[in-house]
Amino acid sequence: MDFSVIIVGAGPAGMGCALALQRAGVANLLVLEAETVGASFRRWPEQMRMITPSFHGNPFFQTDLNAITPDTSPAEFSQKEHLSGREYADYLQAVAFHFKLNLRENERVLQISPESKGYSVTTDKAGYRAEIVIWAGGEFSHPKTGAFQGAEHCAHSSVFRTWNDYQGDDALIIGGYESGIDAACHLVQLGKRALVLSSGEPWIADHADPSEVLSPFTRERLLHTMQNYSGQLNLRGNATVVSVDHLSGRYIVKTAEGEVFDSKHRPIAATGFQSALTPIKDLFAWEGSTPQFTDEDESTLHPGLYYTGPSLIHQGSKFCFIYKFRARFGVIARSVARRLDYPEPDLENDRNRGFLVDDLECCTNCECAVESKPEPVEAKA
Ligand SMILES: Cc1cc2nc3c(=O)[nH]c(=O)nc-3n(C[C@H](O)[C@H](O)[C@H](O)COP(=O)(O)OP(=O)(O)OC[C@H]3O[C@@H](n4cnc5c(N)ncnc54)[C@H](O)[C@@H]3O)c2cc1C
Repeated sequence: MDFSVIIVGAGPAGMGCALALQRAGVANLLVLEAETVGASFRRWPEQMRMITPSFHGNPFFQTDLNAITPDTSPAEFSQKEHLSGREYADYLQAVAFHFKLNLRENERVLQISPESKGYSVTTDKAGYRAEIVIWAGGEFSHPKTGAFQGAEHCAHSSVFRTWNDYQGDDALIIGGYESGIDAACHLVQLGKRALVLSSGEPWIADHADPSEVLSPFTRERLLHTMQNYSGQLNLRGNATVVSVDHLSGRYIVKTAEGEVFDSKHRPIAATGFQSALTPIKDLFAWEGSTPQFTDEDESTLHPGLYYTGPSLIHQGSKFCFIYKFRARFGVIARSVARRLDYPEPDLENDRNRGFLVDDLECCTNCECAVESKPEPVEAKA
């Protein structure tokens, strides 16, 4: 074997998992990255900020929510609470350098093939064999583009590098969750008008799991935008887009509820992303659109093939934030160490810092003891 473990992707998931393996004493690791460390974050629109706040609470056992190791802090690194994509990628790069990760950038994995023992990994530069493979390829390269008929007439929200590039005074945005509201607030603050069409009404929804509702950061800036840019932002809930047509130079948007909207400019599809497992979907079992994992985040079809990142789902709950999926780094590290016949690793510090959560009850119990009282956001300006 060339390597004990190959990790695909140097975003927060791949790097964080690699560093947990290092803490577990696992040697002979390689991280392969198609572009550069934190590449997805470098592609965020320049105005976008992390919605999860950063704060250096580490010495008091409250590790910064966006940290990928128990002893680093993006807040301390950047002196910011809500980092931009570029600042977060800089943090990841500093972490890779500090911990001397064995990392190869600009090397894209093209294929992973199970063998009688381990896996062969083919890249655009070489071929390797590894006993264990951890997929951490991220969702950002897989925008959901087929959400409705005529979606090809829209521009996906992930293609914008800055909202200054948006041509036109009016924007029609399809999708009212984080990306849609983020786009709307920035465009309005640039002096444009925005109409957001959303199948539900995420701006008034209340749910104990932060993955299911707008973050407090987004609610706060939405409220600020509604109050300070009167008439420029229109939120239309219960408007499920079923088709977009491009006729006589205009974009005609129809909803399941029978409404028709038209726009001079290409609508923005803030419709989210496909599973990060898309490129290796055949190596995992699926129940409908839900990938299946063992209790140690391995493929149920191929032992020794793990996944780490935001597409992890257990008991119907999504581990879509960094603070959620990092809770499994220690679980994967311990499982890999056992598979490779290492002595049982001491990951007690990981457990105490929230990097080894093996009780999956955490997925099903997000209830807060105190009922929330969100400030109402009026649907229409
Ligand atoms: C717009 C947006 C905003 C978000 N905001 C937050 C937030 O505020 N807080 C939060 O906790 N989460 C946030 N998330 C979720 C967050 O992006 C993800 O949690 C995080 O990026 C996932 O990390 P990852 O390492 O799985 O993926 P990525 O960061 O996408 O990293 C994957 C890496 O794998 C590389 N790669 C892909 N394919 C290959 C291949 N074949 N070979 C080699 N390398 C490959 C990519 O180049 C990339 O560098 C946000 C997501 C989006 C899309």
